[in-house]
Amino acid sequence: MTTATDTARGLAVELTDLTRTYGAVRALDGLTLHLEPGELVALLGPSGCGKTTALRILAGLDRPTSGTVSVGGNDLTRVPANKRDMGMVFQAYSLFPHMTVRDNVAFGLKLRGRPSADRRGRADDMLELVGLSQHADRYARQLSGGQQQRVALARALAIEPSVLLLDEPLSALDAKVRAQLRDEIRRVQLEVGTTTLFVTHDQEEALAVADRVGVMNAGRLDQIDAPAELYAHPATRFVAEFVGLNNLMNAEVSGGTARVLGTTVPVIEGSIPSGTGKAMVRPEAITVGGNGADNATVMSVGFLGPISRVYADLDDGQHAMAQIASSLAITLSPGDRVRLGIEPTALLVVDA
Ligand code: ADP
Ligand code: MG
Repeated sequence: MTTATDTARGLAVELTDLTRTYGAVRALDGLTLHLEPGELVALLGPSGCGKTTALRILAGLDRPTSGTVSVGGNDLTRVPANKRDMGMVFQAYSLFPHMTVRDNVAFGLKLRGRPSADRRGRADDMLELVGLSQHADRYARQLSGGQQQRVALARALAIEPSVLLLDEPLSALDAKVRAQLRDEIRRVQLEVGTTTLFVTHDQEEALAVADRVGVMNAGRLDQIDAPAELYAHPATRFVAEFVGLNNLMNAEVSGGTARVLGTTVPVIEGSIPSGTGKAMVRPEAITVGGNGADNATVMSVGFLGPISRVYADLDDGQHAMAQIASSLAITLSPGDRVRLGIEPTALLVVDA
């Protein structure tokens, strides 16, 4: 009997200086990306930045205009998709609806000519891995969207792929199922150890699931780093905005520090060296206090469960959005006078 841990351990993946043009459109513009064996890298970026193109080129479903693809040290740039042994999961609806769940999972093995008893054993192991053993004999169309994506994951892993490719696999699901399945994908990926490229436009998803997150901007990488590092030290304004640092506050920079909302904080690499700029401040780094020295008026409070968002106008004309515990926000109403400050963490300060 095979088990998940029999699956080949991950191989290194190297995408080097990839370009891909479609007529006048440069979908990829010098993309270089390295994945360590067994690593899960999330490729994050807005719609149209080239994520799917990169994934399709790695899969062999598309050819780069220039640049190379290598896996496990072998140059695959000119190897066709069916010789690359990659498992893929797409956004949705990729199962055969009138086939049983087990037959869907075994499909790739059948294509590869594996004997039927083998296929069945492997399919059942994969269904156990994704927690769907009890549904093996159902038709795919009888499952919920989240269950179907788990079957798609089981099918992708059944062939023991050298690389697992996920293109927005959670986009069609509702919020709760999304978060559950995201964690499930990570658990399974860690268990099988397959090198994985996970494409998404959702920053929360990318930060939650990946060893490293690569932020793509117009066909190339702006930055690739561990989630906490990316969040704390965005290299560019684009990255900072894309990972949710959406308050741009007036800042005065000198000697490696910035004065922002009355507080002096260190500036991070990539900031302007001196003068007046805009500090990129995370909503949860903005503090909302009372007790005199008020500098702002609450405009609205948005309740998000455990946390709330407080929108306030500063007396100097700036606007800010703070994210604070709902237990604190509950006392606030529009029109209230408050004191906005910031946590003393290092900030990126960009040109105003
Ligand atoms: P993403 O997955 O990040 O949304 P894509 O890789 O799908 O982005 O697309 C990147 C750019 O390339 C877009 O401008 C898109 O319109 C263009 N593009 C992608 N595939 C094709 C194609 N087959 N023909 C023409 N343009 C394409
Ligand atoms: Mg896409």
